[in-house]
Amino acid sequence: MAEARELLRKYYGYPDFREGQKAVIASLLEGRDTLGIMPTGGGKSICYQIPALMMSGTTIVISPLISLMKDQVDGLDSIGVPAAYINSSLTYAQVETRIRKAARGEYKLLYVAPERLESERFLDLLGELTIPMVAVDEAHCVSQWGHDFRPSYMRISELVAHLPGRPQLAAFTATATDQVREDIVRHLKLEAPGVFVTGFARENLSFTVVKGENKRDVLTGYIRAHAGEAGIVYAATRKEVDQLCEFLKKQGVAAGKYHAGMTDKERAEAQEQFLYDEVRVMCASNAFGMGIDKSNVRYVIHFNMPKNMEAYYQEAGRAGRDGEPSDCLLLFSPQDILIQKFLIEQSVASPERQAQEYRRLQQMADYCHTPQCLQRYIVRYFGGELEQDCGQCSNCSSPDMEMTDITLEAQQIFSCVRRMRERFGVTLVASVLKGSRNKKVLDFGFDELSTYGLMKQRTEKEIVDLIQLLVAEGYLQLAEGKFPTVKLSSKAGAVLAGTERVVQRIRVKPAAAVVQDA
Ligand code: ADP
Repeated sequence: MAEARELLRKYYGYPDFREGQKAVIASLLEGRDTLGIMPTGGGKSICYQIPALMMSGTTIVISPLISLMKDQVDGLDSIGVPAAYINSSLTYAQVETRIRKAARGEYKLLYVAPERLESERFLDLLGELTIPMVAVDEAHCVSQWGHDFRPSYMRISELVAHLPGRPQLAAFTATATDQVREDIVRHLKLEAPGVFVTGFARENLSFTVVKGENKRDVLTGYIRAHAGEAGIVYAATRKEVDQLCEFLKKQGVAAGKYHAGMTDKERAEAQEQFLYDEVRVMCASNAFGMGIDKSNVRYVIHFNMPKNMEAYYQEAGRAGRDGEPSDCLLLFSPQDILIQKFLIEQSVASPERQAQEYRRLQQMADYCHTPQCLQRYIVRYFGGELEQDCGQCSNCSSPDMEMTDITLEAQQIFSCVRRMRERFGVTLVASVLKGSRNKKVLDFGFDELSTYGLMKQRTEKEIVDLIQLLVAEGYLQLAEGKFPTVKLSSKAGAVLAGTERVVQRIRVKPAAAVVQDA
């Protein structure tokens, strides 16, 4: 590792590796196939570039992102590392020149688009090179479960098998689902890989979830309090982006907008204005951000909850790239879940994929309901662990959150779910516990259950919140599907049996409000 650090200083000018980079590089230098799970911007390039510098021969880097390839090669050029890329942006003659140079072993790194692997001629050329390592960027593209499957990624294992002396494999992705990770190991044929989840904690980011408040008021309040700072406001639909931008302009905020419904020219202009701080606040759809690198974004506000944690974290993570303290706010309303369900229904055809997307949506909703440290929830979601709570997210810093024993309430809820035979959704369970006389409750005869009205001293909303908290903490599960039914998980069994207690950080209401509700 000492030699690796020396190269880091010499070529890149950084004093040391980030914690996560160390583990990945050490694993590669031991000669192991390695899977690095890191967020965008986590510093994965160095993870394969430094080992490539230490190995003899040409490392092949497979990347689907043509524009990033050029950036990477320009970057390597500027620090004196011989590298090149081969993709569809080049003329035939340019490709030929590069292939000849590659055959002479003139490059330390050769970036190629996956589609090249479809060409026999190209594979033959690679067969003539000395290739110590193949690095696969955006490795989730090999999985049909991933969001952007690339059939050509399936050719990578053929390439590796075809090469004389099996090169080592390094794969990178920011995707969290187990299924995708398994696919990567299986389809790339990684051999006993070292798997490392790193870099998801971002100490300079403070996460906040806002629930049950007027979103526009929260938005304008926040933006006014942070006038002069650059921020991005993400919304779920183009229409909402348009409306928010108009609304903010009326409030006197220098706002711009960006979404896929605008012309290329309009979008390029909007992006420029934001980059050069002519527009402080960018209202945007998820089309905004691919490849923009503005380091001084001080806040990212999600006006709607996104479809999953990957999407959320990628967008929220655009705040504070310069390492300065920055805020990530998510303005949640139950309506957001309906919007996302609608979008899943419209865009995902296969029932299995839909089920998976609903599950990931549920995990996103859980983030909005968890009483835990939000940074911890994120890091855990991606498969890592945080040593201690962040101390600055809305859950860590809320003065009216207290550790409270809610075992009795949890037991009441679990037993009601059981008596309703785990066949109904959150709202109906809450109505029964409240003792509501609504038609559905009476039609099913739930007013005869012993759990009917057990929590009548609480509002239905409070009961719903409690149920959602118990879902977020894994005591209850929502069965997959469009109208999820509440089911007990094994964790709930121990609580019902009285062998385990439920202690949670929950919002403690001021006494007056409780009296008013009763
Ligand atoms: P990724 O490829 O994972 O999106 P990059 O490799 O482009 O991320 O790295 C993101 C940023 O972090 C770059 O600006 C890079 O120079 C910087 N960086 C990477 N490793 C280190 C390090 N050890 N120390 C300081 N900065 C680093």
